[in-house]
Amino acid sequence: MFELKKSQLFYPLRIFFFSLSLLLFVNVGTFSQTPHKIKTIIIDPGHGGSDPGTHGDYQGTLGSFEKNITLAISMKLVDDLKKAMPDVNIIPSRTTDVFMNVREKAQFANEHHGDLFVCIHADAVASLKTGSKIVGYKTEVYHTHHYVGKGKSRKKVYTRHTRRVAIRHYYKIPTSRKGTSTLILAARQTNDKIKALEEGDLGYNTEDDDSTANINYDSPEYKASALLYSQNYFRKSYQLASLIQQEVADETGRPNLGVWQRQKGLWVLHATQMPAVLIETGFVDNYDDERYLNSEKGQDEIAQAITDALVKYRKMVETPKTLANTASDNTPGK
Ligand SMILES: [Zn+2]
Repeated sequence: MFELKKSQLFYPLRIFFFSLSLLLFVNVGTFSQTPHKIKTIIIDPGHGGSDPGTHGDYQGTLGSFEKNITLAISMKLVDDLKKAMPDVNIIPSRTTDVFMNVREKAQFANEHHGDLFVCIHADAVASLKTGSKIVGYKTEVYHTHHYVGKGKSRKKVYTRHTRRVAIRHYYKIPTSRKGTSTLILAARQTNDKIKALEEGDLGYNTEDDDSTANINYDSPEYKASALLYSQNYFRKSYQLASLIQQEVADETGRPNLGVWQRQKGLWVLHATQMPAVLIETGFVDNYDDERYLNSEKGQDEIAQAITDALVKYRKMVETPKTLANTASDNTPGK
């Protein structure tokens, strides 16, 4: 037999409330007020090695390859970022012309504990229109026939003729689409404010897909990573993508084609356990864009604009929430 005191009866209840308050305190402290530090940024130059990406193939093209453009811009971006953020690790996934499939790229980013994953690409439209022009004439010989005579002596008689025919040169017409867009993964709950990019929509090509990696979109692995991404990284990826679009438009004066979300074909972005964006810097099959993307000036401008966007993003996430809410200095500027 034992006597139960009143205080003893309430003891478990007190423990419960104490634990609850501790839990709430820890939650608020950890997830709302402590700013997230950016320690490592992974820069991924799209394609490489045996995978050239898209390439200039139209009348007057430089014949340039996407893999070389992405590497050149990425190397400048890495230099600019190192100068702008000397305390952050800036790690490129490749520095030479080598092939890595998307699984290897995602694994690379995760193993290096990236806080951000930035893929550099260049765009192309699905198919170019064809034009032709007359480049000369040639003489073509042809024959007609008629019959002479009757019965067994009936004969077929040929007459030789000549005619002038045009010699045509057929060529592909460069696209009129130009400018920069940034892709992020489509979250499960789609945000109406963000445009969804379907394959083939707007004539975009689908070369930036994951066909080389045999991705099964119904696999538990894929579904788990998609869920993780939409819960943790979608909002941040969108914020970063918006800043990039804004800076690129402000600093290069080229068309801002906006932030797009795509469901499939960006497996590399889900598989990286960090906010991730894919920048389509410009169109390799647009006359002006191809020259811009291959020029020192163009590559410098794009790298600097992306750097400025990343500096702004870092400032935003590393500023404690309470301060960020009151001091929202989002004035666009250089
Ligand atoms: Zn690409």
